[in-house]
Amino acid sequence: MLIDKHNRITDYLRIAVTDRCNLRCTYCMPESGIKYVPKDELLNFEELLRLANIFADLGITKIRITGGEPLVRKDIMKFIKGLSEIEGIQKINLTTNGTVTGKYLKELWKYGVRTINLSLDTLDRERFFQISRRDEYDNVLKCFHDMIEMGFQVKINCVVMSGVNDIDIIPFIKLTEKYPISVRFIEEMPFNGEGKDEGHLVWDYRKILGEIKSAFPNVTKLIDPPNSTAYNYKIENFQGDFGIIASYSRTFCGTCNRIRLTPKGVVKTCLYDEGVFNVKSLIRAGATDEELILAIQEAVSGKAKNGFEAEGRRSFDFPVSESMSTIGG
Ligand code: SAM
Ligand code: SF4
Repeated sequence: MLIDKHNRITDYLRIAVTDRCNLRCTYCMPESGIKYVPKDELLNFEELLRLANIFADLGITKIRITGGEPLVRKDIMKFIKGLSEIEGIQKINLTTNGTVTGKYLKELWKYGVRTINLSLDTLDRERFFQISRRDEYDNVLKCFHDMIEMGFQVKINCVVMSGVNDIDIIPFIKLTEKYPISVRFIEEMPFNGEGKDEGHLVWDYRKILGEIKSAFPNVTKLIDPPNSTAYNYKIENFQGDFGIIASYSRTFCGTCNRIRLTPKGVVKTCLYDEGVFNVKSLIRAGATDEELILAIQEAVSGKAKNGFEAEGRRSFDFPVSESMSTIGG
C-alpha cells in the first residue's frame, strides 16, 4: 500500500502518455514554439506497462489516461488493452479533447473504459475556436453525443475564464437538464506553458457557485464521493449534475489519493510540485522492480501536505513555465 506521512492512501495513478496535442487551448499551451519531448524520451509502452503492474501491486486500483491528447499517441489502444489486463486495476478512465475520440469509442468500451472526461469549455462554435485555436467544435460535439448514446458516463471539464467563457456557465447547467452528464467547472491554474499568471483568480469556486445559484435557486448539494476533487451539486429534476473543482484554491488536498507520471517519466505526487524523481532514468539505468518500488514508496511518503506546500518546495517560483499538457491535469 502507498501511504504518505499525512496518512493518505494513494490508489489513483494519472498517466500523461504524451505531451503532444492537436488543439492549442489558450489556458494550456502557447500557440507556437512548443518543444515537444523527443519520442525516445517518452516512457515507452513496455516501460509504462511494467510501471502500471508495479503500481497495481502497490495498491493502485484506478488509472486515468491523459496527456497532451492521449489519443494522438500511436498505438494507444494496445496500451489501454494492456492496462485492462492488469490484475488489481478496477477502473481505467480517460481525459480527452474529443477530436479523434469517436473512432476509438468501441475499443475503449471493449477494454473496460466506462467514464470519459471530455474537455469542452464552451457551447458556442466561435468561442470554441477562440479558446482552442482549432476548428474542431463539430467533431467534439459529435463525440459528446456518441458517448452518451453508447452509455459512457460523460463528465465535461470546463475551465472557467473571466471574460472568455464565463457566459457559458449557465448554458452548461442547462445541458444537465437534458443529459445525464456531469459538468465540472474548473478553476484556471497557471500551467499554460507561457508563464502567464494574473496572480489572482476571478472565477473561484465560490463565484462560480454564486453565479449558478442566482440563476437556479433550487441547487442541491450532493454527497461528494471519497477523494472527490469536486464539490458536487444538482438542480432538482435535472438528469445530470455539476461539480466545481477548486484546483487553484486547492481545497481538496486533505483527501488527495493521486500520483502522476509525466510523459518523460517524472513522478509527481502533487500537481503543484516540480517532480519528485525520474522513474524512466531509473528504469533505463537497469533498476529492479524492488528498487522502483522503494523509490515510489519514498516519493509518496514525502508527499506535501497540500498544493501550497508543494508549491513552496519548488526550486523556482511561480509563474511556472510548465504546460498542463506535460503534467496531465
Ligand atoms: N487533452 C486532453 C483534454 O484536454 O481533455 C487531456 C489533457 S488536458 C491537460 C487535461 C485537463 O486539464 C483538461 O480538462 C483541461 O481542461 C485541463 N487544463 C489544462 N490546462 C489547465 C489550466 N491552466 N487550468 C485548469 N485546467 C487546465
Ligand atoms: Fe490539448 Fe487538452 Fe491542453 Fe487543450 S487542454 S491544449 S486539448 S492538452
